[in-house]
Amino acid sequence: MLFSRRARSKRSGFPVLRPRMGNSGLNGKFVCSASLMLLRGAAILLATNAVWVTTVIAQEQGAPHWSYEGQTSPSHWGDLSSDYAPCKIGHRQSPIDIEAAQKADLPAIQFDYKAAPLHIIDNGHTIMINYAPGSSIKVGDKRYELKQFHFHRPSEERIKGKRYDMVVHLVHVASDGSTAVVAVLLQQGADNALIDELWADVPKEKNKEGFLDSVQINVANLLPADRGYYTFAGSLTTPPCTENVTWYVLKHPVTLSAAEITEYSKLYRDDARPTQPSYDRAVRESK
Ligand SMILES: [Zn+2]
Repeated sequence: MLFSRRARSKRSGFPVLRPRMGNSGLNGKFVCSASLMLLRGAAILLATNAVWVTTVIAQEQGAPHWSYEGQTSPSHWGDLSSDYAPCKIGHRQSPIDIEAAQKADLPAIQFDYKAAPLHIIDNGHTIMINYAPGSSIKVGDKRYELKQFHFHRPSEERIKGKRYDMVVHLVHVASDGSTAVVAVLLQQGADNALIDELWADVPKEKNKEGFLDSVQINVANLLPADRGYYTFAGSLTTPPCTENVTWYVLKHPVTLSAAEITEYSKLYRDDARPTQPSYDRAVRESK
């Protein structure tokens, strides 16, 4: 696979840490220089989303680098910046272990996903696909537009303690700025044609978005046939850990091959935030 050739050229999935110039460098603060560049394009694509605009501004102002290991790992996120405080003090943080759920008469998620040109970036934390406008979900009366999807290994969510091999998060925003994330669990099995295509097209350079307008993808191909779900109030699972995110974790996983998992792990061996306390949050489950 093309991805293999690219993966061999990169020995580490993590961006290089570089001390900031000037006083802040003397204070021992570090910024992820890659992160400063990465969201320039995303700022345009996501400008209608207050949550993401906040993230972009934070990055451009030199918000601290964060990661999944060492001194900037998840247990430190809340101390890296006051903007990241929710990571530490929030009571509606994601991910969670879905241990018990209340069955309820919940509306089906109506997926209206359309084919789109492939815009893909390795942003130093995950592989992310920015999606063209026009694809959405509707839950009850509320419509959320799909902005992007990205991956984690292993799954951040647990269901009754069980983690899956990977997960894909589909990030949506409504016209009022509220965010809904659909999580599709990925488990090892038959190979996944869409993921194969994505991995083959990951840009060689981090934080450089590839605009492959000749490649059409349809994210609907990542959905399981049965779209029953768990839902609860949560947060973004990366800094600034913003809350008021509605989560829909699909109960049924889809498969990808062992080789596809291995290809991802060459870039990101572990980019999953540990589960957070639920603080007696209600989790509901569609019947
Ligand atoms: Zn995610």
